[in-house]
Amino acid sequence: MKKVDAELFIIGAGPAGLTAAYEFTKHNPSVIVAEKDPQYVGGISRTVNYNGYLFDIGGHRFFSKSQEVVDLWKEILPQDFITRPRLSRIYYKGKFYSYPLKAFEALKNLGLIESALCVMSYAWARAFPIREPKTFHEWVRNQFGERLFRIFFKTYTEKVWGMSCDEISADWAAQRIKGLSLTSAVKNAIANSFGVKARDKNGEVIKTLIDSFQYPRKGPGMMWEAAAEKVKARGGRILMGQEFVRMSWDADAGIWTVTVRDVKTGEERQFTARHVISTAPVRELMDSIRPSPISRLHARELKYRDFLTVALIVKDTKDFPDNWIYIHDPNVKVGRVQNFRSWSPELVPEEGMNCLGLEYFCFEGDGLWSMKDEELIELAKKEIEQVGLARAQDVVDAAVVRQPKAYPVYDDDYKKHMEMIRRDLEMHYPTLHLIGRNGMHKYNNQDHAMMTAMLTVRNILAGEKLYDVWNVNEDAQYHEELTEGEVAALKSEREVPRKVKAA
Ligand SMILES: Cc1cc2nc3c(=O)[nH]c(=O)nc-3n(C[C@H](O)[C@H](O)[C@H](O)COP(=O)(O)OP(=O)(O)OC[C@H]3O[C@@H](n4cnc5c(N)ncnc54)[C@H](O)[C@@H]3O)c2cc1C
Repeated sequence: MKKVDAELFIIGAGPAGLTAAYEFTKHNPSVIVAEKDPQYVGGISRTVNYNGYLFDIGGHRFFSKSQEVVDLWKEILPQDFITRPRLSRIYYKGKFYSYPLKAFEALKNLGLIESALCVMSYAWARAFPIREPKTFHEWVRNQFGERLFRIFFKTYTEKVWGMSCDEISADWAAQRIKGLSLTSAVKNAIANSFGVKARDKNGEVIKTLIDSFQYPRKGPGMMWEAAAEKVKARGGRILMGQEFVRMSWDADAGIWTVTVRDVKTGEERQFTARHVISTAPVRELMDSIRPSPISRLHARELKYRDFLTVALIVKDTKDFPDNWIYIHDPNVKVGRVQNFRSWSPELVPEEGMNCLGLEYFCFEGDGLWSMKDEELIELAKKEIEQVGLARAQDVVDAAVVRQPKAYPVYDDDYKKHMEMIRRDLEMHYPTLHLIGRNGMHKYNNQDHAMMTAMLTVRNILAGEKLYDVWNVNEDAQYHEELTEGEVAALKSEREVPRKVKAA
């Protein structure tokens, strides 16, 4: 057999790439990982260090239904997990509402007049429903009334998805808010007032409502730095600041030649490998393969939503307990505020100080994304004061972090495109393996990314396809052979909004 530089070449040192390297090096040290970031491993799950202040891209809860994933977290980072209480609230027009809602608090915050108007608008909507609602707006208005739609649904949905609720299809609301009527919402809210949690049909507390979670004491990046160190200690190589640019397949020899470019010097280097694992966005990967895959045009149709965080270092004068707060208020652009001291006190190096992460959902190149850092910081200072979580004058420093391709978008056609890409790659490039979030175009959490990595490594080591990684569901659970009915019933993907179809 021809000699190669590495048995396995991995593109990306995020959770998926590092889990693959970690698992593979348990058996064979012949691994090279190329990471384009010159400083951080961890990808979207990295922890940024700004002058000793540590913060996440989003705030990453460690929670998984997969015991294998949980065990791996503990194996990589045995001493450093802390259990945190989960507290998040909704901010709307100067008031904070518990999430999930508590009836008496909501009533008190809205006031008697607004509450009465909400009931009247609900009664009106029930008496005169919009026949065959087509949009998210129409569907929610029918179910809850126009006023409650405006308070609890409209603004946050529009901020996150970058679409008007009049453009989002009613199907999503019907799936998302399935079975939830005003009566059941009120029942839940009353139960919450007495500390009783809503449960799903299997009797389990609904995932988003679980009231504690695991977190590495210095943020998720701590986990991925530990994984990288263990990979290196076993003889694996992690090349930082090296961007994958192209790869060519020699079908006769069964060998890949991968080219990476140094992000600082522009210098290119080549490595040969028998297997390649990619966690890079599918749209970028497909244009870099030689000979070109026939499905590459499908990859160009894949879309993404982007995200930026403005981290404000503030004097901690307005101590609040929440991990994060959803900002439903239409008068500010910020979508969510992370309170990093509440995630872990060790993220904040100085007493009497805090770090607040103001999160803005955007598209690469749009107004928010293209604003200068100084302008974004000014906007964030103004908005944090407006929502009453800190005074602008108490902000002593700030940093902006942009995260392109934070969310792979599920539009009407993405499934069809991914199906073509997947079949094409499996048939023509069997030693190229797609894993992880953007690597598979799956809008999922770390546990899913890790499970796809673990199963792929098992396939490579076995020399045969023992597992179909596309059968790992949103909860990181692997499902063997599925009948069509089971596939339909399996919640393998998060539900996300789609546009209303043109008539
Ligand atoms: C706002 C937000 C909040 C989240 N909250 C949670 C949470 O609470 N809990 C949770 O478990 N998950 C959460 N997630 C999801 C989690 O961040 C991802 O599931 C996870 O990081 C995916 O891992 P990955 O390795 O597949 O991809 P990524 O994290 O995207 O890592 C990919 C890596 O590949 C590198 N790369 C890309 N292209 C190239 C190239 N050409 N050459 C070299 N390197 C390249 C990137 O720089 C990156 O380091 C959240 C995500 C977001 C956006």
